[in-house]
Amino acid sequence: MTPREIPALRRRLLAWYDRGHRPLPWRESRDPYRIWVSEVMLQQTRVETALDYYRRFLGRFPTIARLAAAAPEAVLKAWEGLGYYARARNLHRAARALVERHGGRLPAEPEAFRALPGVGDYTAAAVYSIAFGRPLAVVDGNVRRVIARLLALSLAVDSAAGGRRVRETAERLLDRGRPGDFNQALMELGALVCTPRRPACPGCPIRAFCRAGREGAAADYPRKTRARPVPTVPVAVGVIFKNGRVLVTRRPERGLLGGLWEFPGGKIEPGEDPRAACRRELAEETGLAVEGLEPLGLVRHAYSHFRVVIHAFRCRFAAGRVRLRQATAHRWVSPSRLGELALPQATRRLLPLLQERGDGAPR
Ligand code: SF4
Repeated sequence: MTPREIPALRRRLLAWYDRGHRPLPWRESRDPYRIWVSEVMLQQTRVETALDYYRRFLGRFPTIARLAAAAPEAVLKAWEGLGYYARARNLHRAARALVERHGGRLPAEPEAFRALPGVGDYTAAAVYSIAFGRPLAVVDGNVRRVIARLLALSLAVDSAAGGRRVRETAERLLDRGRPGDFNQALMELGALVCTPRRPACPGCPIRAFCRAGREGAAADYPRKTRARPVPTVPVAVGVIFKNGRVLVTRRPERGLLGGLWEFPGGKIEPGEDPRAACRRELAEETGLAVEGLEPLGLVRHAYSHFRVVIHAFRCRFAAGRVRLRQATAHRWVSPSRLGELALPQATRRLLPLLQERGDGAPR
């Protein structure tokens, strides 16, 4: 693609976008807060999944001030099921910082916004280009793929040199008159036309400028460094009953699933029997001895860098006082009220197993 071709590429891409992009609710607004929430949700979540969450979240927290005033638990609850909970915690912290330091509004300069918790280059560029027309190029997975194919980029896009090349190209291509629309058009093209598996090159509005598309080699790009195998971690958890209630513990604020409630347990050691592991983990993590351990079921769940296989057991409290090792709080809860807590997906999937046993947990 030569520099002289770039204005034509911009025109064709924007004309395609103008003809019929998806009418998504965050595109109907110039409210930077709404655009920010949508961009945070969409970082790790598909549009179809994010739609319902987006409407509910903004129904609950319609302004930065309302979000800032909410309890952390309420924010996590509204995010429950979306995963990557650090996004919700950071959004909440950033809203509080905006109220304290910027009168509850986004600052004029993107650099000041970029300094808030959880706000990276992508989010700052997306929000400031779309809401304020600032000439900042976004680079997300869709943009990376489209640009790697446009250039037939031999560098791996997840290498430092490949990443630099993609960013430089995104900045070169950006339409400075309509940066927000251009960014959205490039992302939309990646989501609808230049898709990971079956790019629709014959109908692509920028095929004339695309080296991989012209050569029929779109499937060869983007190149990536070899992925490491994803490990599977076996885990044992116990649903401990005491006087008709069950014990749940709260994960530390920082780290994976921070602040969410779960049944206590931990990793099964190599060669260890899951039932023995459950008894040991409950003693170590809660200080409690249990009896009558019965298998409740198996739940498999995938996170971004590993998978877990959860061996869940039902058991009765036998002796001891709760002494938490890593968790930050505990509660004895009626099974029918477990659904009111902010729970990780994998824990939520144990609730129907409890219900099948007649233990009164909700679906
Ligand atoms: S021509 Fe094909 S590979 Fe190139 S941008 Fe369009 S859809 Fe992607």
